[in-house]
Amino acid sequence: MIEIADGVFVRRHAELDLTLGFVVGSDDSLLVDSGLDPALAAEVRPSRIVLTHNHFDHVLATAAFLPCEVWAHEECVVDERVLVERAKYYDEPFTGTLVVPTHTFRESVTLDVGGRRVDLHHFGPAHTSHDVVVHVPDAGVVFAGDLVEQGAPAQAGPDATPSNWRHVLDLLLELDPRVVVPGHGDPVDARFVRDMAVPSGN
Ligand SMILES: [Zn+2]
Repeated sequence: MIEIADGVFVRRHAELDLTLGFVVGSDDSLLVDSGLDPALAAEVRPSRIVLTHNHFDHVLATAAFLPCEVWAHEECVVDERVLVERAKYYDEPFTGTLVVPTHTFRESVTLDVGGRRVDLHHFGPAHTSHDVVVHVPDAGVVFAGDLVEQGAPAQAGPDATPSNWRHVLDLLLELDPRVVVPGHGDPVDARFVRDMAVPSGN
């Protein structure tokens, strides 16, 4: 865990260069994406997990953190396709316990994490139909999920909407972040997001 702002942490993983987020309030905490590694549950006990989107590398370890609330956009579907995607990526069969979101929202919602405000936003389809941006206003930190990648180009699969990507990033930048945490790679600044190449249309 690397502290990037007061009580705001990122955890970097060699596997897929994945980046998770952790926000700590007084006697409460929130995890941004559960990731692939259930061992993290031995270190942190968040009362809430926010899933930025339903790709396997962001949701597979959720069960390890139960009991906790699982927040996502209302269009975030966590079903067996997640396991199929995982199996395809590593070219090996895979089974696991999937956890569906317990709490959803449509446009935005404000959470209280131990006295600390955390806003969840959905700015429209881009990387997926249901990307969630997590904003910690008092720290100037935005967790962008896979809307932003550092060290590799942003990825658009068949479930992406590249034509709306730049618009979504413009709305993210209106939050005026000091630090933007990508779904993969190291934290970046607003300029990186302004200048990054978005995937071309599919
Ligand atoms: Zn993704």
